[in-house]
Amino acid sequence: MTNRKQIAAANWKMNLDLAQANSLLQEIASANLPMQANRIAIFAVPFPYLSIAKNILSSCTNYFIAAQDCSAHKEGAFTGEVSTAMLQSLGVDYVLVGHSERRAYHGENAKLLSEKINRAFEQNIQPIFCCGEPLEIREAGNEKSWVEQQIKEALFHLPEEKMKGFVIAYEPIWAIGTGKTASSDQAQEMHAHIRSVIAQQYGDSTANRISILYGGSVKAANAAEIFEKPDVDGGLVGGASLNAVEFGNIMQGLK
Ligand code: PEP
Repeated sequence: MTNRKQIAAANWKMNLDLAQANSLLQEIASANLPMQANRIAIFAVPFPYLSIAKNILSSCTNYFIAAQDCSAHKEGAFTGEVSTAMLQSLGVDYVLVGHSERRAYHGENAKLLSEKINRAFEQNIQPIFCCGEPLEIREAGNEKSWVEQQIKEALFHLPEEKMKGFVIAYEPIWAIGTGKTASSDQAQEMHAHIRSVIAQQYGDSTANRISILYGGSVKAANAAEIFEKPDVDGGLVGGASLNAVEFGNIMQGLK
């Protein structure tokens, strides 16, 4: 049995205007679904809504706020970027790093991602490191080595104490926003592999304390089946997180 955190993480991406964001947050806060013991909910909202989300969800226990990205730079002349110090000053607890959409549309590579992870830790913000293979890699049967490489390149410079309680999101690219979910067995197989890669470098005890989330078309109807797998510690949810009832059901599907 494990005591690692079970996490339902919402990724709103670039959706909703201020009024819509407000009403979704109000709906989530008034439902105030209990997250007991080792369960938490995380809301990765667009930058302009971080403060609002922090305020509205402050009355809910074990609900946290995440940014969807951060700058690799500390401060200065980087127009349009948002530093981890700024996030920290807003009370942001988590930051997504290396989401496949950032890798694909913004050319983010392993070196940049490792710098972002370091910046997050400098401000005591926990990175949620996203990894996952494209369809052609899965079809060629190379998904495990692909994901292993992503993890080694971006994370293995970290000392062991930073890996304790680390959060990784495995998101096969072919399953993101496509309605096509990995089967719970495919998710389990990759999650077990990720944990073994971490164990080889940092030892079993650290590997057993890392939360590994599955992402890719998770919805209320499939969440519990995926989450119940032994190495799946919850999910990172895009589309289905824009509906309070749907996401609430996903939160309640955590083991
Ligand atoms: C995501 O954005 O991380 C994601 C998994 O999206 P969706 O749930 O819409 O596939």
